[in-house]
Amino acid sequence: MQPPSKAIQQCPLGSGPDVVSRGSRDIEIYARYEALLDLSSKARACSSIADLACCISANWRYCANVLTWRLIVRGEDELHVIDFDGGETRISNPAMEALAVAEREFLNRNIPRRLRQNDIDVLLPKLSGHLVTGSVREIIVLPMNSGGRGLQVLAIIGVGPSPASPIDLKFIEAVGNILSGELSYIITASRLTQALEQQANQDALTGIPNRRNFETRLDLHWRDSVRKHEPISLLMIDIDNFKRYNDHYGHLAGDNCLRTVARALSAAVLRPMDFCARYGGEEFVVILPNTPLLGAGVIGRRLIAAIRNLAIEHVANGDRKTASISIGASAIVPTASNSCRDLLAAADKALYLAKDSGRDKLCELAA
Ligand code: GH3
Ligand code: MG
Ligand code: MG
Repeated sequence: MQPPSKAIQQCPLGSGPDVVSRGSRDIEIYARYEALLDLSSKARACSSIADLACCISANWRYCANVLTWRLIVRGEDELHVIDFDGGETRISNPAMEALAVAEREFLNRNIPRRLRQNDIDVLLPKLSGHLVTGSVREIIVLPMNSGGRGLQVLAIIGVGPSPASPIDLKFIEAVGNILSGELSYIITASRLTQALEQQANQDALTGIPNRRNFETRLDLHWRDSVRKHEPISLLMIDIDNFKRYNDHYGHLAGDNCLRTVARALSAAVLRPMDFCARYGGEEFVVILPNTPLLGAGVIGRRLIAAIRNLAIEHVANGDRKTASISIGASAIVPTASNSCRDLLAAADKALYLAKDSGRDKLCELAA
């Protein structure tokens, strides 16, 4: 680490008329400079906005004791207020309006400014749950223009007896410069992660959960059911004579049919914990937690009726002339000595029985 005098010359706070004097002020500036260096290195390791919020709070004490802060990130039509502990609350208009004013005024300039009293009056009621006790003296907003990815706003809220000093404002500006880069990186990275996660868990053709997603869910529900000694049911669903559908109507029409069936099945599975996925090809699965075989049969027959009611023309589907599905239903009370493979195998066998006994029907088999 460089000695203070040399460091101060390079310090982003150390230029300009406010910091020409020496003595205790130098030390104060140097302490803040170190805080900035510390913040800069720690912020780089953050992988979420909440991490970043915690990281700033650890360094914020250097910005005089008159200030507290909340990281307020502007979303598309709401504000994300991030607390010291990383907790996040979303608030929508009209609090946005106060910051929109700030945005218009300070666009493209990472310069901290005090909000006008009128705007403070709009913002304050929305932030009241997030502020430490004490009356709010001022709100300083720091727009951070993060490379075309929308404007982020850091709001610094003064609750102490005196307003922020010029050095405070410079410190805020320097913090903002560090944060704007990190924030835009984190936002881009987390959007990317979300998109990738969605892609990995969603069936590309139908948009419903895919087999990988199903396997993860089944494992989760299985372990939960073992703990609670509750039964778990599975429906294995297969479109009847679908090869003939493709042969007769073409593959594109086949794809459309799969989409329509997927939508109808998902819509007919009503309880929040029930889970419908495309298992592969023209096969779908439904997990029914805390459901015995009797209940699974009721839900399965409802699904069969839902597909019949779609009345999708399928002239090659035997006597029926519209699309239909067959279902194998199985149920089990999970224990340490059985496994979800038993449940799947029983559902598969029940499906085979349903096909074998004429299609467009459900067969049940306890695992
Ligand atoms: P069953 O009533 O016994 O189930 O007869 P099926 O013709 O439905 O069963 P089979 O397993 O013989 O054929 C399944 C067909 O599903 C063959 C395959 O081309 C079609 N298929 C699988 N995935 C897709 C897809 O993504 N799009 C389209 N269009 N067809 C698909
Ligand atoms: Mg099949
Ligand atoms: Mg089939």
